[in-house]
Amino acid sequence: MNASTPKTASHKIAQSHESFTSEVERWMEVRAEGLYCKPANCYIDPHDAVERAIITHGHGDHARSGHGEVFGTPETLAIMETRYYLTEETARTPLPYNQRHDLGSGVTLWFAPAGHILGSAQAVLEFDGRRVVISGDFKRHPDPTCVPFEVVPCDVFITEATFALPVFKHPPLEDEIGKLIRSMALMPERSHMVGVYALGKCQRVMLALREAGYAHPFYLHGALKRLTELYESLGFDFGEWVLISDIPAKERDVLRGRIVLCPPGALADRWSRKIPDPLPTMASGWMQIRARARQRRAEMALIVSDHADWDDLIETALATGAPDVWITHGRVEALEYALRARGVRAKALNLIGRDEEND
Ligand SMILES: [Zn+2]
Repeated sequence: MNASTPKTASHKIAQSHESFTSEVERWMEVRAEGLYCKPANCYIDPHDAVERAIITHGHGDHARSGHGEVFGTPETLAIMETRYYLTEETARTPLPYNQRHDLGSGVTLWFAPAGHILGSAQAVLEFDGRRVVISGDFKRHPDPTCVPFEVVPCDVFITEATFALPVFKHPPLEDEIGKLIRSMALMPERSHMVGVYALGKCQRVMLALREAGYAHPFYLHGALKRLTELYESLGFDFGEWVLISDIPAKERDVLRGRIVLCPPGALADRWSRKIPDPLPTMASGWMQIRARARQRRAEMALIVSDHADWDDLIETALATGAPDVWITHGRVEALEYALRARGVRAKALNLIGRDEEND
């Protein structure tokens, strides 16, 4: 996919920014429903149903149901449809990356890749010669399930801060997948039951295992089926996978020494009793914190995050050249402090309704 940044004649990055924060604050504000662009009468990832919504990606804490009109990348809209977030009454405008769209009243919207999950986008809003970029959730580490993040120069960069503490440094995915592969070689009698979120993490882990040479079928919990099929319909190839529910009870020994994928909640619930000698494993950025792994009753913790880590959050905000950075949710104070120390005017928006666990 070609994702070069479109240029606009009218756009200029603020050279002096004395009066300019207040200038952007005249048309971008935080309301009870979420971040709001006034002249376009449009919310970005609102957590309540609204008339017009720009959706950065399909995770449930950003994409909600019940909006009158929705703008998103074609992949995000397909995900929303699969999850029943769109009804027949919802008007929808699919916008591929970099395609400019006139929202009315002089506001232009386009999407740039965010590298978070399939279809994930930064929403770029231009108005009155200024450009605001809303990153949504994003990451800089490679991910074969989505288009890599692109830095878009802007006047105001609005960023998440889920993992904004210096302790968060996400390891390369190959290292974590390597742990899993070695464990299977050491304990071939145990079913390696990996807890993954159904959207994004599941598919990323499957592709990474294929890349690492894992050639057996994957065994999937039913909750992972629909979205995995959606990815396949969009051209992704995960090789052979089988639903656990299609395996008769007396044949379940086939799962020993194999990868079983399930939603995190299934690791410790009744469902896991179907699995012979399971080794509960959790794949999430939060696995850097031991207590979180214990909470999940995971015997093995794989640090696999779809969010930017501490260094990437800071480097990305600086790379946009934005004199102002607004921080939506997460470890807001730490990032605010770190950016101010680097000469950026950073401020916390403290948006509510974001689900931290969705990593
Ligand atoms: Zn997300």
